[in-house]
Amino acid sequence: MKKKKNIAIVAHDNRKKDIIEWASYNWQELIQHDLICTGTTGKLVEDTLREKCSKNNKVPPTVTRLKSGPLGGDQQLGALIVEGQVDILIFFWDPMQPQPHDVDVKALLRITVLYNIPTASNRSTADFIVSSSLFHEEYEPILKDYGSYIKRDVDMN
Ligand code: PGA
Repeated sequence: MKKKKNIAIVAHDNRKKDIIEWASYNWQELIQHDLICTGTTGKLVEDTLREKCSKNNKVPPTVTRLKSGPLGGDQQLGALIVEGQVDILIFFWDPMQPQPHDVDVKALLRITVLYNIPTASNRSTADFIVSSSLFHEEYEPILKDYGSYIKRDVDMN
């Protein structure tokens, strides 16, 4: 991944307040990167960063907004990870309430492990990620070799 990262941000409804506070606290770090969010989260993050930037005479970052999570936004993010277009995922999921798209949430979290994507599910981990020296450096995540799985598919056909 390059110095300028593609950072995906998602928050379930009961965690939206947390993500706004976190984005507001870390706005100076976040505006140096490109952000990709699910629909509603993206609107909130964009508004938060715009307000910070206008008060401080800075250029707001590009925020790409996907579909809302329950409408397929998590799946869109998963596909972007597979295509190598997401470097980091900040995903404040709700530990107290089941979601209509629980299967999509599980799929997204599985893909982050498969592709070795740094993932934060809470504010402490998210703070550690943005304050890491690697956050503004180039970094090549090591990918496990799943070649044998591909071979298994070929053998079965
Ligand atoms: P939202 O989707 O940002 O559109 O609310 C997040 C989710 O619920 O997965």
